[in-house]
Amino acid sequence: MSFNPADNIQDLQYYGEFGGVNPSISDSSTFTFLAAKTMFDTFEGNADGCYLYARHSTPSNLYLGKALAAMEGTETANVSASGMGAITPVILQLCGAGDHVVSSRTIYGGTYAFLKNFIPRLGIKTTFVDITKLAIVEAAITKNTKILYCEAVSNPLLEVADIAALSALAKKHNLKLVVDNTFSPLSISPAKLGADVVCHSLTKFINGSSDTVGGVVCGTQEFINDLRNVNDGASMLLGSTMDSLRASSILKNMRTLHIRMKQHSYNAAYLADKFQADGLITVYPGLESHPSHKLFKSNMNTEFGFGGMLTIDVGTLEKANELMELMQQKNIGNLAVSLGFYRTLFSAPGTSTSSEIPADEQKEMGLSKGLIRFSIGLDNDIERTYQLMKSCMVQVGVL
Ligand code: PLP
Repeated sequence: MSFNPADNIQDLQYYGEFGGVNPSISDSSTFTFLAAKTMFDTFEGNADGCYLYARHSTPSNLYLGKALAAMEGTETANVSASGMGAITPVILQLCGAGDHVVSSRTIYGGTYAFLKNFIPRLGIKTTFVDITKLAIVEAAITKNTKILYCEAVSNPLLEVADIAALSALAKKHNLKLVVDNTFSPLSISPAKLGADVVCHSLTKFINGSSDTVGGVVCGTQEFINDLRNVNDGASMLLGSTMDSLRASSILKNMRTLHIRMKQHSYNAAYLADKFQADGLITVYPGLESHPSHKLFKSNMNTEFGFGGMLTIDVGTLEKANELMELMQQKNIGNLAVSLGFYRTLFSAPGTSTSSEIPADEQKEMGLSKGLIRFSIGLDNDIERTYQLMKSCMVQVGVL
């Protein structure tokens, strides 16, 4: 049978210790041992099924990790306190002083800032490239390169990475392909296309209720063991551990992820079509006008659609701000960063989530000041929402 990430999640069921339909929450930071020898073995990573200390792992974190690994089709996964708490240890685990990263230039501003400003202090350099131009990507690889880094669908420009082709490049040059799949959970399965490591910010669609931050690294057992190693594991030693209570609530929210993604995608596709027909500069991977529409289509798990993210360009930051403020006043959604909420969220990335990227570089990559990024909500009647949005656009003069 073919791979279906939602079915894989559904097939995992854990019971609580008294037969609860949800697994019990492990409300402990430390764990007791009957034999001192077992404690030593656990430290050494040789006591399967034993827990040592909550920064290392907890039953609740492992349940959530298993669901996420099932979704991505990887051997296992390690959850963390935030998306950045997943991405940064991966980079630091794979790179040391003198090493080099080739990264897509259109990525989340925090990841960009980490690569550009933070890791040079540790002697790690990054070359930022247009990830859609494979010849440019390959030309940037040096003998010191260890990682090829990209987002499956990029924040905020919604560029689509050709993961299978990038994986072939990574294999050819003996690199690890690390893919952030935050924008396209269920729709794209990067590991199935050849990614070595798949990261998510769980803060977004996967949790879906904008009540917590969280992250995950999905990969091989060997790599996740390395991250958790008590002696030199970046996740273990940097300590961005998820709390068990949060792991349990995110796992419950994951049970509805497939339904939510279908609705996010349906609503976003509906609005993208309408905005484009109205003559707005609209970017959405589901539109045939998107440069990577065919690529997305050939890679996607079709039933989950093209995702809930779209952008429009209204020309200037002033117009963007005016429109966003009005849409909030009309209760269409919130002028807020982040994504994956049941309500529509909108922000101007150039001055918010991508503000870490210097102005000249924003310009070069096509991130214009008038760009508004939308995370389309779960609205019941999207035609009604469209009419409300349209009246705001007419009122501020962008339509
Ligand atoms: N990756 C992407 C694509 C994001 O959009 C974000 C946050 O906006 C992150 C990673 C970082 O996640 P977190 O805020 O959970 O640390």
